[in-house]
Amino acid sequence: MLSASPNINQSLDHPLLEKMGIDLAVKRLDLIHPEVSGNKFFKLKYNLKNAQDDQTPKILTFGGAYSNHIQAVAAACKLLHIPCVGIIRGEETLPLNPTLSAAKSNGMQLHYLSRSAYKTKAKPEFLEDLKNKFGEFSLIPEGGTNQLAIKGASEILTEEDYQFDFITVAMGTGGTMAGILEALSPNQTAIGFSSLKGDFIKDEFQSLINQHQIHQKAEFIIETSYHFGGYAKFQQALIEFIWWFYEQFGINLDPIYTGKHFYGIWDLIKKGFFPNGTKILSIHTGGLQGIEGFTERTGIKLPTPSK
Ligand SMILES: *Cc1c(COP(=O)(O)O)cnc(C)c1O
Repeated sequence: MLSASPNINQSLDHPLLEKMGIDLAVKRLDLIHPEVSGNKFFKLKYNLKNAQDDQTPKILTFGGAYSNHIQAVAAACKLLHIPCVGIIRGEETLPLNPTLSAAKSNGMQLHYLSRSAYKTKAKPEFLEDLKNKFGEFSLIPEGGTNQLAIKGASEILTEEDYQFDFITVAMGTGGTMAGILEALSPNQTAIGFSSLKGDFIKDEFQSLINQHQIHQKAEFIIETSYHFGGYAKFQQALIEFIWWFYEQFGINLDPIYTGKHFYGIWDLIKKGFFPNGTKILSIHTGGLQGIEGFTERTGIKLPTPSK
């Protein structure tokens, strides 16, 4: 089973927080494991444990060419000696970008699918084809969200986290948010910051929690105004915020998820959304592996953690 360093909350000090009477702490999941970082550690934990119980364990999963999920599956499978296949959206581009080259050197077998074929990937015939090609496997869906992932994510919060009024997190599929919601106590509220454009995520999240029968004891809010143009899109203000945040607190943020989440929480604090005396815990979900590929793609430099 994957094991991690203790999951640590870091309190932030800043004149704005003092002025508004806010306690803000960051749960540093970016630091829990050198390779299987952030929320992906929790989402994979039970999926991989389950696969290990198979006679001939093998994982197959899907993702985009810069996906944190693909990188994390490859690294975790290497540690646990589980063979794995990554079905990647789009044509192969050489040289491989940093995410795929890390996945490949960790032993992941990469298989590329055109964008149109990728759309049909959930069809039974297609899965049948994959079984013929790669043999039996446990499937982890794109983004990694399923029942076992939600169970893993429900372990992100620990005993000491019940002192906080708000727990905030970045959202893609919402799997992590679902796990957190399950773990909340009734006097707490979760806020999910969507990195995708549009309100559709609210319905999707509702179906996700219905489908997985999340026992919802607490309130939640989904914030859809901090997407900066949509998934993997960005604006100069986001880049500047990521640099500013690093200079203030020494914490690295990625431009796809955590940068948008922390921009959003800081903006809400600034606007006086939270009453004086509020205690907030914001979860740093990792994703820092993606920075190198982002810089390669856009020419924009961002602070990166020292290795
Ligand atoms: C994958 C990912 C998310 C989104 O997690 P979901 O469970 O899909 O909502 C958030 N932050 C980071 C850094 C991620 O890699």
